[in-house]
Amino acid sequence: MKISIKLSLILLLILSNKVINAQSGYWQQKIDYKIEVDFDVKTNQYEGEQTIKYTNNSPDTLSKAFFHLYNNAFQPGSMMDVRNRTISDPHPYVRDRISKLTPEEIGFLHVSDFTQNGKKANITEEETILSVELAEPILPGATATFKMKFKGQTPLQIRRSGRDNAEGIRYSMSQWYPKLSEYDIMGWHSNPYIGREFYGVWGDFDVKITIDPTYVVGGSGYIQNPNEVGHGYQSAGIKVKKSKKPITWHFKAPNVHDFMWGADPDFKHVTAQVPGGPTLHFYYQPGSETKDWELLPDIMVKAFQFMSENFGKYPYDQFSVVQGGDGGMEYPMSTLITGNRRLGSLVGVTVHEAFHSWYQGILGTNESLYPWMDEGFTSYASNKTMHYLFNPDSHENPQRGSYRGYFMNIINATDEPMTIHSDHYLTNAGYSSNAYSKGAVFLHQLSYIIGEENLMTGMRRYFNEWQFKHPTPNDLIRIMEKVSGLELDWYREHFINSINTIDYSIESITEKEGKTYVEIKRAGNMPMPIELMVETISEEKVLHYIPLVIMRGEKPQENKEIIWKVEKDWAWTSPTYLLLIDLPLSEIKSVEIDPSDRMADVNKGNNKKLFNNEN
Ligand SMILES: [Zn+2]
Repeated sequence: MKISIKLSLILLLILSNKVINAQSGYWQQKIDYKIEVDFDVKTNQYEGEQTIKYTNNSPDTLSKAFFHLYNNAFQPGSMMDVRNRTISDPHPYVRDRISKLTPEEIGFLHVSDFTQNGKKANITEEETILSVELAEPILPGATATFKMKFKGQTPLQIRRSGRDNAEGIRYSMSQWYPKLSEYDIMGWHSNPYIGREFYGVWGDFDVKITIDPTYVVGGSGYIQNPNEVGHGYQSAGIKVKKSKKPITWHFKAPNVHDFMWGADPDFKHVTAQVPGGPTLHFYYQPGSETKDWELLPDIMVKAFQFMSENFGKYPYDQFSVVQGGDGGMEYPMSTLITGNRRLGSLVGVTVHEAFHSWYQGILGTNESLYPWMDEGFTSYASNKTMHYLFNPDSHENPQRGSYRGYFMNIINATDEPMTIHSDHYLTNAGYSSNAYSKGAVFLHQLSYIIGEENLMTGMRRYFNEWQFKHPTPNDLIRIMEKVSGLELDWYREHFINSINTIDYSIESITEKEGKTYVEIKRAGNMPMPIELMVETISEEKVLHYIPLVIMRGEKPQENKEIIWKVEKDWAWTSPTYLLLIDLPLSEIKSVEIDPSDRMADVNKGNNKKLFNNEN
């Protein structure tokens, strides 16, 4: 008896272990960077040493490794240069500018003295990628130590990173160090850099930057030696004496996938505290064009509170807004934005980039493969936040602009499936419209399919379950399915994996024996559940809801003030659907498809019919 209890306990353990494993097949690599860099502000060059502890959590034995050397893209003849001189609609900041860079203006990043666990490893530089033939294979579960020296030159600001940007900020230091490519279930992501998205390994950064004492430095990490560097970091009452020699700034950034810093001698550094949240740091060049930065801290405190409440709690203790770069770009715990802006634009860009902390910084999707999951979701969330900050009483749809952007893509025939790799879009216009506009529409339209409450519950659950990982489209869809109880694979297959469009119309209205029949037609290739509002001449409103068979269920009633009538499911193979309304036509004032205006119907002109109108 005793033995059998023991045996069954063991069996139970084995079984339950299997169950846990089946659910947690997910794995990700782990990295710790220790970087020390000496920066020369006269030559714009820097030399450094980097020690990496890399843990292979994959089930594979690795014999190679790849590092990104992004600076090398800023050289005449580089892939990024050629791409921007040959694509039909080059980015206006780039065009042929790389081809004209002088030796003092180009960027470079070269690695030497590369060792793995003390043994020399062979390295080959192929423009923006360093290939490493490992000295010994890294087995599953093993940790290797890489050491290397590097020498870099910060390019004149063209795109994202660089020196001396259009507003005179000296250094915008993003993608500046040899950055290990991510290895995931798809293998290595050693794509050459041609000027777009990023993807990195999760881990801890320990960074020491030694630079001219007049410079103020801010970026991704927490300062470790505030009372040595001063410049607004020091504790209250501490006086930091001015140094004539270079200062070493020591930062630590835990659990991030990248590290950015900006530096300028004119930076003003101010902070603001979000109650129960992070300390916000702002670095900008004071002047008439940056006057509105004085108003920014208080507004961003309010924005961070709204963001954390609605989309999940921001987990770091700090966020830095650094003037620099060429527009706005997100990095872990920080952003680089251009600063000469009026208040609306300044808040707009700061809210957008701060929200990338959620959709990219913390939910580290592969931006190259799924740009809509970071740009689109960020646009959706920041549209909502801007609405809350500046227009809380208006009933205007905050996502209206995103729908317009998506429709323009169809009108201009630049639409491609959202499964395209960011670098491989035929046009920049097609990429932007898909990543930003259609990505935001994807979420807003999902609220139409599963209900607004389910969508927001799903967004918070997605954030909590997938933070500090690399979620994929399927991971998001699965959470939305669990929250709503509906099947949603069809939504991804049509809206993400294809360029099918939505068009429903009211085809005909007939009356028979005192009852009205509305014939609805699916004119587009993409099926959708239908909401059809019927308003009577006595101004009673009934919302008829027609789910799709393929959804295997219904969303809950959203607006309790309107009568809600669930109709028979629509099988998508039928191009038309006949809806019976238990009223004579003489009592009906109007019928309208999608009155909440959340469906991305490409032809809205055929969605509504009016009757019995006196005027
Ligand atoms: Zn963005």
